[in-house]
Amino acid sequence: MPTESTFLLAGLFLLLAAAGWALGRFGERDIEDVAPPLNVDYLKGLNFLLNEHTDQALEHFLAMVRVDDKTIETHFALGSLFRRRGEVDRAIRIHQNIIARPDLAAEQRDQALYSLAKDYLHAGLLDRAEKLFVRLAEGSRYQVQALESLCGIYEQEKEWQKAIDAGQRLEVLGGRSLALQIAHYYCELAEAAAASNDYAAARQHVKKAQSGRPRTMRGALTRAHIARETDDNKTALRLYHRIIEEHTYLIAEALPEIVATYEREGSTAGLDRALRSMLKSNPDMMSLVAYTAIVNNIGGIPVIDECVERYLLEEPTLAEFVDLQQLTEADEETHDQALQKVRGALSKLAAATPRYQCQECGFSSQRLLWQCPSCRNWETQRPASRVQFETVLQHNITSH
Ligand SMILES: [Zn+2]
Repeated sequence: MPTESTFLLAGLFLLLAAAGWALGRFGERDIEDVAPPLNVDYLKGLNFLLNEHTDQALEHFLAMVRVDDKTIETHFALGSLFRRRGEVDRAIRIHQNIIARPDLAAEQRDQALYSLAKDYLHAGLLDRAEKLFVRLAEGSRYQVQALESLCGIYEQEKEWQKAIDAGQRLEVLGGRSLALQIAHYYCELAEAAAASNDYAAARQHVKKAQSGRPRTMRGALTRAHIARETDDNKTALRLYHRIIEEHTYLIAEALPEIVATYEREGSTAGLDRALRSMLKSNPDMMSLVAYTAIVNNIGGIPVIDECVERYLLEEPTLAEFVDLQQLTEADEETHDQALQKVRGALSKLAAATPRYQCQECGFSSQRLLWQCPSCRNWETQRPASRVQFETVLQHNITSH
């Protein structure tokens, strides 16, 4: 059965026919042998389309219609329609057919190259798309769009230095700051260098990441990571504490590292002091500390265990599932066992619940992602203000 887009294609075909007819009537009146309106060729093509014989229609169309200035826009429209329908091979053939025309004007050639590059991108042929976008970025009216697409391609290919170069050119040509995006490219380079133990290069990249505004806290996290790896615990701790102070939502990234660093130093007392002082100046952090501890299975540290216990008792939804009496009146061993049981269950629930959500497109994930995989924006994820245990618990009860 013909679909809506089949009719669109057919409509385009009719437009083409009408254009030919109008030209015949008014444009080139002195020429005697112009095609009559809706000639047999058009009707044949139309028939192919309406019967879903798109391949035959395409062949018929490519063979029949000479690309000239009057019909070229219809070719472009047909090409982009095919691409939108997901029929990229057909779009590619249409655009290649336009490019093959020897006397094509420079502007139309650029338009056809840009369309073809988008087809390749759509088809996942990144190398071919990249070549065309590079050419268009050198000098065409598609420079800005080409550089934007190149940034996207280099992000996918993790070619961060190329992404930085394209991003910096785009800032100049597009007249807008891409500081945050470029800072993340540098952080990617820094993390890769750190992963191969090249800490000197990693530090250089972080420095560049932090030179623009707005800054990303990811730069500080990477620096802290480098400090930790190079046994500079003092710097690592200072940075992790600063990260939490400035952006409390990054606690899930920083707290486990703080705990691990103090434990490596064998300084449980130091950890207890540091966390108590943090909670004193910012009591709202209690539930964040508790949640992070539950998700990351951090236990056996008095100040953190106190946070978890208070969190379980104060969260109204959770209180229904916790035997308060058992917790408050039982002997120490029973108390600890009961607490451990609830923590274990919550940890499992939390692991199955998306914690972060993109503020641009709503994409959610369990771990923090610096670039949203859906809308490709950088640093747009934030944690849910409070964990929707209610929803999760209800879901679990009804599905079991
Ligand atoms: Zn998003």
